[in-house]
Amino acid sequence: MKTNYLIIANWKLNPQTTVEAKKIFTGIKKVSTKLKNVSTVICVPYVYLSDLKKLASKKCILGVQDIAVPTEGAHTGLVSASMVKKFGVTYTIVGHSEVRARGENDATVRAKVTTAVTNGLVPVICVGEQARDTQGFFWHTIKEQVITAIGNLPRKSLEQIVIAYEPVWAIGKDAPRPATPAECFEVVLFIRKVISDIFSPADAHNVQVLYGGSVTPKDALGFIEHGGVDGYLVGHESLLPKHFDTILINTENYANTQKTKTIKK
Ligand code: PEP
Repeated sequence: MKTNYLIIANWKLNPQTTVEAKKIFTGIKKVSTKLKNVSTVICVPYVYLSDLKKLASKKCILGVQDIAVPTEGAHTGLVSASMVKKFGVTYTIVGHSEVRARGENDATVRAKVTTAVTNGLVPVICVGEQARDTQGFFWHTIKEQVITAIGNLPRKSLEQIVIAYEPVWAIGKDAPRPATPAECFEVVLFIRKVISDIFSPADAHNVQVLYGGSVTPKDALGFIEHGGVDGYLVGHESLLPKHFDTILINTENYANTQKTKTIKK
């Protein structure tokens, strides 16, 4: 049983000032640095990296929300993996549905995953269906997203990737509902099967898979307990340190109870 969890905040286009960014980051850091079983990553807008770099630590890690495929040259508006690394960034979200909605396809996601891994960043690869159809075409979408994103990676690189299952229909404040842990569980099993078919069952077991989509302090733990995931990608609730901290603490406490159980056996 795994008892090391990964919880990633995705701040998106928020907050609006450096002062607020520092305040939220500090509020999360106060709790995250005390945790033994949970690693916290905060994916922030690029403009805050310089200030937040001074606050980041091993237990409160800096991430970004996207990177460019190229690493230098005439590419107006882009920011490269090597540039963000200089600010202590270790994780980057790749293939988020909000970026895919602006035109990013599976091939570009694959290229970004390769760029991230080559430059020593951990890509948090978002996959997930727009909607659930009754004929089950959504399974094909998820399979294609996973195969295209990681199928060409050397096996060793699997230690350096994270997959986030983010059903698009469950993302955002206006989403009708989050996925249920049961819905999450079957997709996570499926993702691991796809990885197992490309690489091996052990690789499939070891890759960290997260759930993202309207996670709250109330329902987050259910995705670890019954949804088969190793943590969460949290959007709007990660801008509220009290809420996000509750998610962190609940997960830490759960990990501790699991450890005790394991020792007793
Ligand atoms: C996200 O967009 O990655 C996400 C999980 O957002 P939210 O928690 O707001 O649904």
